Amino acid sequence: MYRDISVDFDEQHAELQSLVHGFAKDVLRPISLELDQLSPSQVIASSSPLWNVFRGWYELGQHCSSLPEEFGGANLDPLSQCIVFEELGWGAADLAISLGVASFPFLFLSQLVQATGETSTRSDYIDNILNPFSNNKTGSVIGCWAITEPNHGSDELGVGTDSFTNKSAAGNCRATLKDDSWVISGQKSQWVSNGSIASHALLFCTIDPDDGMNGGGIAIVPLDLAGVSRGVPLDKIGQRALNQGEIFFDQVEIPYHYMLVDKTAYSIMLDATLATANSAMALVFTGLARAAFEEALEYSKSRIQGGKPIVDHQMISQKLFRMYTQIEQSRSLARLVFIYNAKIGIPVLPLSIAAKVTATKCAFEVSHEAIQIFGGLGLSKGTLVEKLFRDARASLIEDGVNEFLELVGARQLVNTYSL
Ligand SMILES: Cc1cc2nc3c(=O)[nH]c(=O)nc-3n(C[C@H](O)[C@H](O)[C@H](O)COP(=O)(O)OP(=O)(O)OC[C@H]3O[C@@H](n4cnc5c(N)ncnc54)[C@H](O)[C@@H]3O)c2cc1C
Repeated sequence: MYRDISVDFDEQHAELQSLVHGFAKDVLRPISLELDQLSPSQVIASSSPLWNVFRGWYELGQHCSSLPEEFGGANLDPLSQCIVFEELGWGAADLAISLGVASFPFLFLSQLVQATGETSTRSDYIDNILNPFSNNKTGSVIGCWAITEPNHGSDELGVGTDSFTNKSAAGNCRATLKDDSWVISGQKSQWVSNGSIASHALLFCTIDPDDGMNGGGIAIVPLDLAGVSRGVPLDKIGQRALNQGEIFFDQVEIPYHYMLVDKTAYSIMLDATLATANSAMALVFTGLARAAFEEALEYSKSRIQGGKPIVDHQMISQKLFRMYTQIEQSRSLARLVFIYNAKIGIPVLPLSIAAKVTATKCAFEVSHEAIQIFGGLGLSKGTLVEKLFRDARASLIEDGVNEFLELVGARQLVNTYSL
């Protein structure tokens, strides 16, 4: 176990860390390695070990732990949340993302309900959405964040960029007001994490196409409604245990108040959502980097070349120290940004992007070096480091391509930074 240098780290944090680490080691990692070898349809089949992951996590009660207490959560302090994300990422980044996204719509809704407090809609949300989620121990209430579309990947996340208000770049999944309900038609991309299994979507859709991406709305959509259908689960090189798939909407009707955010607050809420997601990604992929480092360190002590363990060759020990340095840098920034964002309430997007880009680059580079230290064995299918490398590769695109996120961050800096 690494030395935790957060000055606020106390006994309760240590207990939580040990609980989540145990789950990551005994459940997440072995099951993610098993799922990695299966086809995407086998990953989500009813007999798949994937369901043991959800059941285990929900039985531990951790799925709703970051929700406010009044909605069945534990209101975890920010450092605890950092620890949970990092340990899950250490176990398996793909399943960490799956579990994180599974809670995300409910966290978003609970925070919004708490902020607005209006009583009649509040009881509807609580009875029909939040209670079933927090009381669920089987893992059958699962969320997803459906935002990107076949023709709109970076476009959808380009908050504040020139194209964001461009009418010709409006999204194709649209919600139209009909009496006292919203009717949704269109599709979300094959990249929606948990898209093939989710029971509820936090749907980012277009309400006013004349305002381009800026004319959006955010709805909570139960995915058992008439008119919802799914695509074939996506096949990909990394994060194979994370199921992904298209969601189609054909005249799907939701109550008026299920549109949680309309176009007046859309860009602000998108900014906050992306900032929240990016800072969580930074923690998960710091965990992945740590896993790769630990694998390489252990191996370097046991592999004998030139008559001694390779760790005793200076070049290998220097590589290991550089990996360690990168991970400490990544963890420090990731935790600082996550905790700062939680304390001030409105997360700061350029900071979250800086943390996400730093951590995913670190995960990619450290897992790359880990393969190098393993030599030929590192390329062999079934070795943990080769999976970590493939999983890390996907993170450079996930939740926004890093280069594009940097453009989004730069735009905000240029507009707001003053000397
Ligand atoms: C593992 C994983 C999980 C994901 N999970 C989800 C999810 O839960 N929900 C969801 O909705 N989506 C999800 N996505 C989709 C993800 O958000 C998109 O893949 C990402 O935003 C990029 O979109 P794209 O793939 O369409 O690439 P594009 O947007 O087509 O980009 C292609 C290339 O062009 C560059 N580019 C694009 N626009 C510009 C520009 N204006 N200026 C300069 N360069 C530009 C990009 O940087 C990139 O290099 C996930 C993706 C992955 C890989």
